[in-house]
Amino acid sequence: MIKKLVTIITKLIFPKTCLICNQIITDGNFCAKDWNELHFLQKPACNICFQPFEFKIDDEMVCGKCLQKRPEYFKAVAVLGYNENSKIIITRFKYYDQINLAKYFAELMFKEMQEILPDIDFIAPIPLHKLRIIKRKYNQAALLAKNITIFSNKKLILDLLVRTKNNQPQAKLSQKMRRRNVAGIFKTKEKYLTEVRGKNVLLIDDVITTGATAESCAQELKRAGVNKVYVLTLAKTIANRHD
Ligand SMILES: [Zn+2]
Ligand SMILES: [Zn+2]
Repeated sequence: MIKKLVTIITKLIFPKTCLICNQIITDGNFCAKDWNELHFLQKPACNICFQPFEFKIDDEMVCGKCLQKRPEYFKAVAVLGYNENSKIIITRFKYYDQINLAKYFAELMFKEMQEILPDIDFIAPIPLHKLRIIKRKYNQAALLAKNITIFSNKKLILDLLVRTKNNQPQAKLSQKMRRRNVAGIFKTKEKYLTEVRGKNVLLIDDVITTGATAESCAQELKRAGVNKVYVLTLAKTIANRHD
C-alpha cells in the first residue's frame, strides 16, 4: 500500500515524459506519435551490414555494396534506422548525463543480438579518444557495452581497442575521407592479445554511419588474431537504395 502510494506521488512529482518531445506520458518512454515515427529495423535485411531489403528472397541475402567489397566485420546489426527521432534521442544520450538511457538502449540492443549471442566471446566498445571523453563526460559506447554485458553474461573488455590518434570527428567528412580519417588509428591492447586470439568479438557503438570506424576496428582486431568481429549499434544510417 505504502509502496503504491510512493509510486503515485513520485509519478505526480516526476511525471514520465516522452524522450523526444518531452510531453507527459503515462507509460513507456515515448508518446504514441514519436514511437510510431521511430524506425525499428527488421528483416529482410543484408546478412552482413543489415541494410533493409524490400523483399525477402532467402536468409543469406547480401546487399550490392557488401557483395562489391565485403566488410572487415562479419556481421552488423542495429535497432533503429537513423532518422529525425533517433537523432534526438542519441543526441540526448551523447551530450547530457543520461545514464538511465544507456540501460534502456542496452535492453533494446540486447534483444536485437539474440541470433548472434551464442557466437560471441567478448564484448568491447568502439573507443572514443580521451580528449572527447572529457568533453562529453562519458564514452557512450562504453556505457552501452557495460549495460549489454549485464544482460548477456559475456565478458566485457572496456579497453580492448585504443585510439592512437585524436582524429577529426567523422560527421562532416565524405565517405572516402571518413575511411582515410580512421584508417590504422586503432590498436589492440597488447595484454589481451593471447586472450582474444581465435575468439569472436562484439563491438558496440551508438551509431553506424558509413561503417568506416567499425571497419577500421574490425581490421585491427583481425590483424591481432580475432576470428570474427560482430558490430551492434543502437542506430544505423540507411543507405539510399540507389547509392
Ligand atoms: Zn513525443
Ligand atoms: Zn550489406
